[in-house]
Amino acid sequence: MAQRALLRPIGLASPAFARTHRLARPFSTVIDAPVHPASQPAPPQKPSSSVFQDALQATGPRMNWTKEEISEVYNTSLIDLTYAASTVHRRFHNPAAIQMCTLMNIKTGGCSEDCSYCAQSSRYDTGLKASKMVNVESVLEAARIAKENGSSRFCMGAAWRDMRGRKTNLKNVKEMVKGVRALGMEACVTLGMIDAEQAKELKNAGLTAYNHNVDTSREHYPSVITTRTYDERLATISNVQNAGIHVCTGGILGLGEKPQDHVGLIHTVATLPAHPESFPVNALVPIKGTPLGESQAIKFDAVLRTIATARLVLPTTIIRLAAGRHTMREEKQMMCFMAGANAVFTGEKMLTTACNGWEEDKQMFERWGLRPMESHETVGGQQEITQQQGNDAVAAESQASSQSATATV
Ligand code: SF4
Repeated sequence: MAQRALLRPIGLASPAFARTHRLARPFSTVIDAPVHPASQPAPPQKPSSSVFQDALQATGPRMNWTKEEISEVYNTSLIDLTYAASTVHRRFHNPAAIQMCTLMNIKTGGCSEDCSYCAQSSRYDTGLKASKMVNVESVLEAARIAKENGSSRFCMGAAWRDMRGRKTNLKNVKEMVKGVRALGMEACVTLGMIDAEQAKELKNAGLTAYNHNVDTSREHYPSVITTRTYDERLATISNVQNAGIHVCTGGILGLGEKPQDHVGLIHTVATLPAHPESFPVNALVPIKGTPLGESQAIKFDAVLRTIATARLVLPTTIIRLAAGRHTMREEKQMMCFMAGANAVFTGEKMLTTACNGWEEDKQMFERWGLRPMESHETVGGQQEITQQQGNDAVAAESQASSQSATATV
C-alpha cells in the first residue's frame, strides 16, 4: 500500500467526531507517496469571462475600458486574478526589476486644502510643524545619498494647493529638477495643481514625471476632499500630459470607500487619453488629528486585488507600492510584486510617514532575486513593446499552456 492509512472515512471527520476525538483538522491527511496527477479527478472548469481573457492576452494598453469590464476583472477570484496579473506583468516588464524611488518633502505642512487623510493640511491639529521650502543644495545632497543607495528616481513633494504666484518657488524647483537629472536620476515632483505654462516650464527643466493623485473614485472623492474638485485634478493631469511629462497618478485605499470605488479609481486613470506612466497604490496610514485618523486599516486582499486589477488594465504602467508598505510583512510585499507592483518608495522617510529603509529593501531584494530598476529602464512602459512582440508573447504563452498540465486561468 503506497498510501498509509491515515485517510479516514468522511463520517469520522464530522464536527461531532472531531470535537470528541480532537480531530481539529480533518484535512490533515498524511500521504507517504506522491499521488500521480493523472489519477486525480480534474478540477471543475470554471469558464473565464471574455473580458478577463482579453485582459490576459493584452498586447498593449487600451483606453476604452468600461467600469463594468474593470469590475469583472476586479471581482475574478483572487487566485486567478493574481496569476493572470503575473502573466501580463512578465509580458510587459522584467519581473525582477523594481524601481526604487526616494521621496523628499521640500516644503512641509501649512497646506490650505482639506484632504481628510493628510498630516500637512493646516485645517487639522496633527502636531506637524509647517516649514519653509528647503534650499536647492540640501535637496541635491539628499538626492546624491539616495542614488548611492540604489534609488534611480528622486521625488520632491511640496504641501501646496497650487503654484499660483509662486514664481520664486518654481524657479527653485526647476533648479532642483536640473540638479537631480544631472546626477543621472529621474526627477519627479508633486506641487499641487499646475497650469499649462508651469507644466511647460517644468518640462523644459528636464522633469521626468509629475505626481498628482486622483485619490479615489469620482463618486467617493467628495467625502474625502471638498476644497478642489475631481475635475480640477484631471485638469492638472491633462496639463502635465500635454506638456510631454510622464504622469504619476493613483490613489489611496482605506478612505472609507467601497470595492466599487477601487474599480472607479482604476477606471479614471485607464480612460485618460494615455495611461499614466506610474500608478501609486497607497494604503492609508491614519494620522491622528485628521478626520480619517481613526480609520481601520484596509485589508490586504483589497490591496492585492487592486494591484492585480491595475496590472491587467494598465499593462505598461509602473505600479507603485507606496504609503503603508512599511506595515506589510515581506511575504505580503512579495505577493504584490508577483501581482505586478514594480516600484517602491525607499529611504529614511516618505513625506511625513515612515518608510522601509534602503538596507532593509536591499536585503529583501537579495532574498527574492529582485534588483533595482535602472534609471529610465522602463519609463512609462515606453520600453518599446511592439505589437509584433506582444503577439509573439501571447502565442508563446498559449503554446506553453497547451503543452503543460498546469492549471490555466
Ligand atoms: S493638497 Fe496635498 S499637502 Fe495639501 S492637504 Fe491635500 S494631500 Fe495634503
